[in-house]
Amino acid sequence: MKNCFLLCVVSLGLASGQVTVLQDVDLIDGTGAAPRKGVSIVISGGRVRDIGPSSQIKPPSGANVVPLAGKTVMPGIMNLHGHIGLVKGLTQARENYTRDNIDAHLRMYASYGVTTVVSMGSDIEPELMLRVRDEQRGGRLSGARVFFAGRGFTAQNGYPAVLPGNKGVPYEVSTAAQARAYVDQMAKMKVDLIKMWVDDELGRYAKLAPEIYTAIIDQAHKHKLKAAAHLFYLADAKRLLDAGLDAMAHSVRDEYVDGDLIAKLKKNNATAIATLTREQSVFVYADGPAWLDTPFFQRGVSPETLATLKSDAYRNKVAGNPDAPKFRTFFETASRNLKKLQDAGVRIGFGTDTGPPGRIQGFFEHWEMELMVQAGLTPMQVIQTASKNAAEYLGVSKDFGTLEKGKVADLIVLDKNPLDDIRNTRTIHTVYLGGQKFQ
Ligand SMILES: [Zn+2]
Repeated sequence: MKNCFLLCVVSLGLASGQVTVLQDVDLIDGTGAAPRKGVSIVISGGRVRDIGPSSQIKPPSGANVVPLAGKTVMPGIMNLHGHIGLVKGLTQARENYTRDNIDAHLRMYASYGVTTVVSMGSDIEPELMLRVRDEQRGGRLSGARVFFAGRGFTAQNGYPAVLPGNKGVPYEVSTAAQARAYVDQMAKMKVDLIKMWVDDELGRYAKLAPEIYTAIIDQAHKHKLKAAAHLFYLADAKRLLDAGLDAMAHSVRDEYVDGDLIAKLKKNNATAIATLTREQSVFVYADGPAWLDTPFFQRGVSPETLATLKSDAYRNKVAGNPDAPKFRTFFETASRNLKKLQDAGVRIGFGTDTGPPGRIQGFFEHWEMELMVQAGLTPMQVIQTASKNAAEYLGVSKDFGTLEKGKVADLIVLDKNPLDDIRNTRTIHTVYLGGQKFQ
């Protein structure tokens, strides 16, 4: 840890005043602008100091010039829906929530180019995540940047509190007054947003009542915090938006979205996050997906986890889940809804719901991008969801999201251009986090 501390401090590159120039890259800046060839990016103090045609940018003397002709640079991926620290291997448990495990997850995300992650309501010790975030903002950055919701909200005996390892993760609330008091506690903990679950998990469990989630959203807004909801049903999405919801943390999956929902999303300037890999995770391991055998996937899991995921016992367990066939349909519905919302001009945010068992941090973010393209978005649109749109939703676009002069230099250098094939986001050459090489 001592070494890590030194490395972390050095990796800031602030004290050294070092200047790095990434020279002659093909640039996708995240704004949606056409890609530009032969671009140089001048980085110092963790930020983009200059960016433009290499012919016009003279590297300052003493700069570390990195020739990258033929490589593509895109913004670091901002994941608006992740979970951190509760899982080791394929097991979720409260005792896993330690500083070491949190750091390991943040390093894993960053090594895959996921430079920002929003921890969505499963921070059982919010003060621990607050400390991580404050240290990062103070300059000690050893993995993906964290935004966090602290503990989220659900009904008494509601989803997901009833799942293994989830007791005590969300607040289980039964009155509006109680909900408001807990939101106050989270606000005191300086969370970045408020998260709630409004889902009966296919009719099995209690669902947060409208009067309670209305109070949660209202109290969040009193603290100038955005409110995001795990939801499933179209009818709930509409009621939540009427109550002021700022983000759908998953797709509507029971029905196709309609003009009424689109109007409500736009009225709230709300963000829609699809989490297509989340649906896939319910059934995909029954199919023995080809990516299990790729080095890009395998570098993110332990040999034991890989062996389990590939075992007949695990495949049979997933295949035997009576919900699995339903989730194949939910996935199709979610994909179609994503395309419809994108075409309607709703802000699409990028999110995966990685972190719970089997939803592999790092790899799934890249697979999510592939599934979004399969749903009908262009690679350029998908990259925008994970950069510009994500930063706008978080209210941090002054500093993050796109690669422009003055902004933080969180970026990925790729061997191949993802506009040709979105799977090229997996050809990671280097990740820069706060202007320093992460790997
Ligand atoms: Zn989640």
